[in-house]
Amino acid sequence: MNPFKSALKITVFTFAMLFIASLSATAQKTAIKLLFPGGKTKAFVFSSDDGPVHDRRLVTLLNTYHLKGTFHLNSNKLNSPNYLQKEEIKNLFKGHEVSVHSMNHPGLSGLPPAEIRSEIFGDKLALEKIAGQSVRGMAYPFGNFNDEVVEIAKTSGMEYARIVEETRNFSLPNDFLRWKPSTHQFGKAYYEAKNTENDQKELAAFNNLTADFLGSDTLALYTVWGHSWEMGDSNAKWNDLETCFKQIANSKAVCA
Ligand SMILES: [Zn+2]
Repeated sequence: MNPFKSALKITVFTFAMLFIASLSATAQKTAIKLLFPGGKTKAFVFSSDDGPVHDRRLVTLLNTYHLKGTFHLNSNKLNSPNYLQKEEIKNLFKGHEVSVHSMNHPGLSGLPPAEIRSEIFGDKLALEKIAGQSVRGMAYPFGNFNDEVVEIAKTSGMEYARIVEETRNFSLPNDFLRWKPSTHQFGKAYYEAKNTENDQKELAAFNNLTADFLGSDTLALYTVWGHSWEMGDSNAKWNDLETCFKQIANSKAVCA
């Protein structure tokens, strides 16, 4: 796809959601057709953090199913061992969104205001140069934020910021600077591994949630967050992710 067209689609997507979120519940029902290109009632957002080398495999998988991802990067970590190289960012993420994750991945709420701003705004400027695209969203590192961090994110040009608290539903965010995702990828299986049996339960719950999203007949936004390093080199885990992507891609109701 033409990269300019892809970028435009992402922009339309975000602005449409900001518009919808500002409407009343009744108005939202009548505005469904304005939501996503093609008048689709469902949208899928895959939000991935940290910029590890495994993002290369994730992008390949997303591209296979014509899905788009949002990649939250730490500009000062790029070119370090196990992280992506700056030189590859522009090409790798063509058609995807590059987004702020702070320059160095600290817990932002523990920092003085000037450092919070430097971590957020500095990352935005660096990523815009590296990625060659406008950067206006973020994910708080460690999901760590407070009101001061949110205010600084806003005045640093962030239009949305994802947190890690999950909704386990498909509602639109009521606060885009404290955007709660629907779920972590695979629930918390593998990420907070306890034992195989528990992982299987969490994975099953994740698959059920994906099925609920695809089966829902109301306005639905499915935001899944995670990290490509969680799959690492495990083909079995990548297959689990591919199962999800394949189902989403096969649904004609989803704008992804
Ligand atoms: Zn992170």
